Amino acid sequence: MDFFQQMVEMGHERVLFCSNPDVGLQAIIAVHSTVLGPGLGGCRMWPYASTEEAMLDVLRLSKGMTYKAAAAGLNLGGGKAVIIGDSKKDKTEELFRAFGRYVESLNGLYITAEDVGTGTEDMEVVHHETRWVTGLPPESGGGGDPSPVTAFGTLQGIKAAVQHLGDDSLKGRSVAVQGLGSVGYNLARFLRDEGAKVFATDIDPEKTARAREELGAEIVPLNEILEVECDVVAPCALGAIINDESVPRLRCRIVAGAANNQLKEDRHGQELHDRGILYAPDYVINAGGLINVYNELVGYNREVSMRMARGIFANMARLFEIARAQSIPTYLAADRLAEERIARVKGLGGQHWVRTVRKRAVDL
Ligand code: NAD
Repeated sequence: MDFFQQMVEMGHERVLFCSNPDVGLQAIIAVHSTVLGPGLGGCRMWPYASTEEAMLDVLRLSKGMTYKAAAAGLNLGGGKAVIIGDSKKDKTEELFRAFGRYVESLNGLYITAEDVGTGTEDMEVVHHETRWVTGLPPESGGGGDPSPVTAFGTLQGIKAAVQHLGDDSLKGRSVAVQGLGSVGYNLARFLRDEGAKVFATDIDPEKTARAREELGAEIVPLNEILEVECDVVAPCALGAIINDESVPRLRCRIVAGAANNQLKEDRHGQELHDRGILYAPDYVINAGGLINVYNELVGYNREVSMRMARGIFANMARLFEIARAQSIPTYLAADRLAEERIARVKGLGGQHWVRTVRKRAVDL
C-alpha cells in the first residue's frame, strides 16, 4: 500500500508514525486539515491486525473530523490518533506518556481526546506530557466524559429525522441501538425518556443485561440488530456498518446514530437514498462530543455544551431540507456544506486560528 498516495487522495496534511518499543507504543497521528483550526480528534486504542488497517482507520477518522468541525461551525480542523493495542491489557502510564510526547511534538497542530478504547483517566496521563489534550476530568479543568453530550446531540438528530418524515415526537417510535457503550447507553436512556421503544445489542453481555434491567430495552442478538423492523437504526459501535451486506437487510425508515464513519463507502449513502431510507450523516449528528471538547479549549461550561448540542436539531433539519430540495443523498449535502465552508475560509489565506492556540498556550 502506498501511504503517500493515500494521503494525496484523502487530502491529508501530515501523518506521524510513533514508535517507542521500550513501552510497547505503536501509534499513528494523522492531521487531515488545519484550515479552520488545530486538528482535533480522539485517540482510539484498538488491536488492529495490520499497520495498513490502522493507517486506513486513522486517515478516514481524521478526515471525518475535518468535516465534522466544519459542519458544526467550529474553529477546528481535523485530526485523529490510533494506538495499536488491546485497551483491556496493554494500557500503562508509560505508554500514554510516550504518546503524549508525540502529541506535544506537533506543537498544537493536533489536539487529542478520548475515543473508543481510551478514557478521561488516560487523557490525564497524556496531560502530564502535553497541554494539547481535551476530554480531561472536571477536577483537572476539563469537561469530563463528552459521551452524554454526544448522546444528547444524537437524540436531537434522531428527532429532526423523525420530524422530517412527518412525526411530531419519538413517543411510540422504535429505535434499534447497536452498541451500549458510553454513547449508546446514554442514548438508549434518552430515548426511553422520550417514550420510544428501544431495541439494543452489544458484544458485552454485562452491558446488555444492564440495559434490559435499567432501561427495559429489548435485547436482540448481535447479527439481528440491523434487521429489526423499526423506525430508526442507531449505530453506536464501530464504523463501516452501512455496507453491501447490511443495506439490503435494513428494515427501518431512518439510520441515525453516533458511530463515526458509518458508510463503508460513499456509494452506500446513495444506496440508502435509493432505498428511501433517510440517513443522518454521522459527523453532523455526533458532533456533540466535539462541541464539548471544543468548549474546553475556550473555557468549559456544560450548559453551553448542551445548548450548542441542541443546535444539532436545526443543523440536521436544514441539511435534510437541502438534500430534499436538491434531490441528493444527505451524506452529499453534508459534505458540500462542510467543503464550502472550508473553501471559503481557505480563501482568506493564512491561519486565522493561531489565536485559539496561543490562548491555550497562555492559559496552561
Ligand atoms: P465505547 O467503546 O464506550 O462503546 C462502544 C460499544 O460498542 C462497546 O460497548 C462495545 O462493546 C460495543 N461493540 C463493539 N463492537 C460491537 C458490535 N459488533 N456489535 C455491537 N456492539 C459492539 O465507545 P463510545 O464512546 O460509546 O463510542 C461509540 C461510537 O461513537 C464510536 O464509533 C465513536 O467513535 C463514536 N463517537 C463517540 C463520541 C463520544 O463522545 N464518546 C463522540 C463522537 C463519536
